[in-house]
Amino acid sequence: MSVLLRVTDVRKYFPIREGLFFRKEVGRVHAVDGVSLEVRAGETLGIVGESGCGKSTLARCITGLYPVTSGSIEFDGAPLGAKGFRRDVQMIFQDPYGSLNPRRRIGSIIADPLVIHRIGTKTERRRRVQELMELVGLNPEHYNRFPAEFSGGQRQRIGIARALALRPRLVVCDEPVSALDVSIQAQVINLLKDLQAELGLTYVFIAHDLSVVRYVSDRVAVMYLGRIVEIAPGEDLYKVPKHPYTNALLSAASVADPDLSARRERIILTGDVPSPISPPAGCRFHTRCPKAMPRCVAEDPRLTPEGEHQAACHFPVQPGEHLGAETPQIQ
Ligand code: SF4
Ligand code: MG
Repeated sequence: MSVLLRVTDVRKYFPIREGLFFRKEVGRVHAVDGVSLEVRAGETLGIVGESGCGKSTLARCITGLYPVTSGSIEFDGAPLGAKGFRRDVQMIFQDPYGSLNPRRRIGSIIADPLVIHRIGTKTERRRRVQELMELVGLNPEHYNRFPAEFSGGQRQRIGIARALALRPRLVVCDEPVSALDVSIQAQVINLLKDLQAELGLTYVFIAHDLSVVRYVSDRVAVMYLGRIVEIAPGEDLYKVPKHPYTNALLSAASVADPDLSARRERIILTGDVPSPISPPAGCRFHTRCPKAMPRCVAEDPRLTPEGEHQAACHFPVQPGEHLGAETPQIQ
């Protein structure tokens, strides 16, 4: 499969400023801190991690909504910002309530990208909006209604229609079903899958729910404190997770969904997620890792080995290895 999106060593830092007049920079939040990945044409790459791990910030960097602090993003071989790029990459947002202006009719909301890019006449745009509404399972005759007249699931369909208006090739879905009732989640996910098959779309699918990510993704990347700590084909990641953090995430999630992972044993992580303002030296997970050794503090692990299943860990978990809920030896 050809590479559609290439992210190379991307960092996104947000300055923290203090003081009324001079707004002196007193620190920086390292929201995304050296992420490299590839997204292949036609696949779904899932990105999972707890809230605050940087996955939404990464999504906004990929779609060009945030300029990056350093690193590069290429779409189909051309750098971010190149002509056409903004049309080719679109985003579906988490909150179908907050992302739609309640005072505007949904027909005009869906037509926004067409208006911004000056595509078509008014009549052509209306026809396209109705076509899009039909595509996502909404009644095309309802284009004059307001967002409040739709349910949560229908509003997310409106968001999807708007994202598809410009016929993008890559769609970044940032927690597209997290705000919806469980009963509605499957409908929206299946719609996204159908649209992918029908339109040949490539997805980056961001979520904290490991079951959802497993269901939609070909490959999965796990983020912790602004970094990718493991990336693998979905099957491998869920069956033989190598990074201790992935093991902990899966052990916690498989309590709710026993089919999720081969690991039933509960691994309880001690300590809080460290502040992204001053991430720990060496391996960022060392303050919470049950396997931490002195080398983990001294040396930042890289994603290895070359190949389809990579983990950033000096002492990857072996299949069948017992990972107890021990207090880390290293603080
Ligand atoms: Fe744990 Fe060390 Fe691996 Fe980091 S490098 S995840 S601290 S074993
Ligand atoms: Mg988020």
